[in-house]
Amino acid sequence: MYLKGVEIAGFKSFGERVNINFNQGITSIVGPNGSGKSNILDSILWVLGEQSYKNIRAKESKDIIFSGGEGKKPANFAEVSLHIDNRDRFFPVELEKVKVTRKMYQSGENEYLLNDKKIRLKDINDMFLDTGIGKSAYSVIGQGKVERIISSSNRELKGIIEEAAGIKKFQQQKLESIKK
Ligand code: ATP
Ligand code: MG
Repeated sequence: MYLKGVEIAGFKSFGERVNINFNQGITSIVGPNGSGKSNILDSILWVLGEQSYKNIRAKESKDIIFSGGEGKKPANFAEVSLHIDNRDRFFPVELEKVKVTRKMYQSGENEYLLNDKKIRLKDINDMFLDTGIGKSAYSVIGQGKVERIISSSNRELKGIIEEAAGIKKFQQQKLESIKK
């Protein structure tokens, strides 16, 4: 499994639709200050179901929609897709190519899609939980997160280890079945 590319349209500084392709291995993104490097990472977290706008450096949901500039009109919606190579069936679906999309309109309404078919946020969370890729996993280490991990309490550290060990999923299922 690897992330083949990110397609971004109307998200933060990306007014026009862009396709950013990655190869397997290490990719470095370089560019001047304010050119949108961190916005690419924010867009990935956002697709993964990030619900805290603070974590993607925005005050409220509408801040993530391209606000216009340089003669360009503001966008009506933000849309980001992750293109994932699933030939090794890392995700237990019979699909070689997995495309996960999140779209948000000016009204604040959100849509999630798996290979262009609408799914629920819960389906996204379930799909990524314990894969090490989910929004609360440690695949995206933002500035300041290292310090936060070092200074976290024992309880928080336990949570981090549980997520990394892949047992969060079972705890969540247990909680859900108790609720029912
Ligand atoms: P640095 O090297 O300083 O970390 P960076 O390449 O990571 O910079 P980002 O933080 O990704 O830069 O991009 C910041 C830019 O994104 C700012 O110029 C900001 O105006 C722009 N931006 C953020 N949200 C929006 C939005 N909704 N509409 C248009 N532009 C936006
Ligand atoms: Mg940055």
